[in-house]
Amino acid sequence: MIQIKENISLKPFNSFGIDVLAKQFCTVRSFNEVQALLEWNKTKNSPLLILGGGSNLLFTKDYNGLVLQNALKGIELVKEDNEYYFVKAMAGENWHQFVSYCVQMQYQGIENMSLIPGNIGASPMQNIGAYGVEVKDVIESVEAIQISDGAIVSFDNKACEFGYRESIFKHQMRNQFIIVSVLFKLRKTPVYNTSYGNIEQELMNMKAAPSIKAISDAVIRIRQRKLPDPTKIGNAGSFFKNPIIPTVLYNELKKAHASIPGFAVQNGLHTKVPAAWLIEQSGWKGFRAGDAGCYPLQPLVLVNYGHATGVEIFNLSTQIIEKVKVEFGIELEREVNIY
Ligand code: FAD
Ligand code: NAP
Repeated sequence: MIQIKENISLKPFNSFGIDVLAKQFCTVRSFNEVQALLEWNKTKNSPLLILGGGSNLLFTKDYNGLVLQNALKGIELVKEDNEYYFVKAMAGENWHQFVSYCVQMQYQGIENMSLIPGNIGASPMQNIGAYGVEVKDVIESVEAIQISDGAIVSFDNKACEFGYRESIFKHQMRNQFIIVSVLFKLRKTPVYNTSYGNIEQELMNMKAAPSIKAISDAVIRIRQRKLPDPTKIGNAGSFFKNPIIPTVLYNELKKAHASIPGFAVQNGLHTKVPAAWLIEQSGWKGFRAGDAGCYPLQPLVLVNYGHATGVEIFNLSTQIIEKVKVEFGIELEREVNIY
């Protein structure tokens, strides 16, 4: 039986800790409840926001519609072959708890993405990634409910049109589907990825050989040192994407800024430039105006030190975009979903 609440504060439901109201709010725990809520909403014709853990969004005003909190639970090994375990996780499962479960079960492939906040259902949305692994590398298929008619649709990996922090759900099909479960394809014989960032160094510090558990622990240790804990300082992780620019343009920039870092992508035709470097060089690292700020240890993360409004955070992001554009001619794109 669905229970629709009115004028609910969204502060506990977003990792920025922004205090806005939702006109209506409903937690759904089963397919039937999702479908019943969609039927109810048809009669109201209200805007619909699907909420997971609220760790990749910024509210700039009250939400004048229905917030559907996806709380479908369950993890199931659906099949296995010689190489893979196929594990289905429901959208409302917490991402990191799922990673911990896979580490414990020796299902390999997602340990580099330990400690990413949020839920399973949002993971395909922006093709979450960290330390050289993206969720697209391990997704077999995504099951979703079509909002217009309640139909259940399955998307195989190709149909999700994954890209760098992108998928079909974030753009062409935005607001058209509610993701209800994800089927993961995880290795039986591990193929570790320790080349990225400082994982190898951290393993050495830990005096540990690469293993599913050791890599997960290394990533957790690095992240706990570098990133603000959203339960203490409001944030939504990286506020901007790392820009990918033509390598010819990167080479031009390098003449003027010899230390600009870059990582070759797409056969070297393009180069990914760490947005954190651009923001720091533009003078924003550690900046604070009122309670809105740019985190001193990782300038890619915008933070709410207490009572910042969503508009203040958004305006800070606009100022950063403008200054980086003037300094480097590169236009940063927001990764966080703005409402
Ligand atoms: P929400 O914020 O609730 O939703 C995000 C978007 O997805 C919204 O537009 C929402 O409507 C939509 N959505 C959510 N669930 C569904 C669903 N079931 N069906 C359809 N649409 C849905 N991200 C990375 O990629 N890599 C990182 O390393 C990383 N590190 C982070 C570190 C910190 C400290 C924080 C705060 C965030 C970080 N993030 C990272 C961002 C964030 O954790 C991820 O994007 C995560 O997947 C968001 O999940 P969520 O459930 O909180 O999504
Ligand atoms: P970092 O290790 O300091 O590296 C800075 C940037 O350089 C990263 O953003 C990364 O791009 C890129 N990079 C580093 N080594 C690379 C390599 N070998 N090949 C290609 N690109 C490389 O980054 P960090 O800020 O501490 O974050 C570590 C990881 O966690 C990164 O993968 C980052 O994406 C992820 N993370 C994401 C969020 C989020 O909200 N999206 C928040 C925190 C951390 P990529 O970002 O493309 O990996």
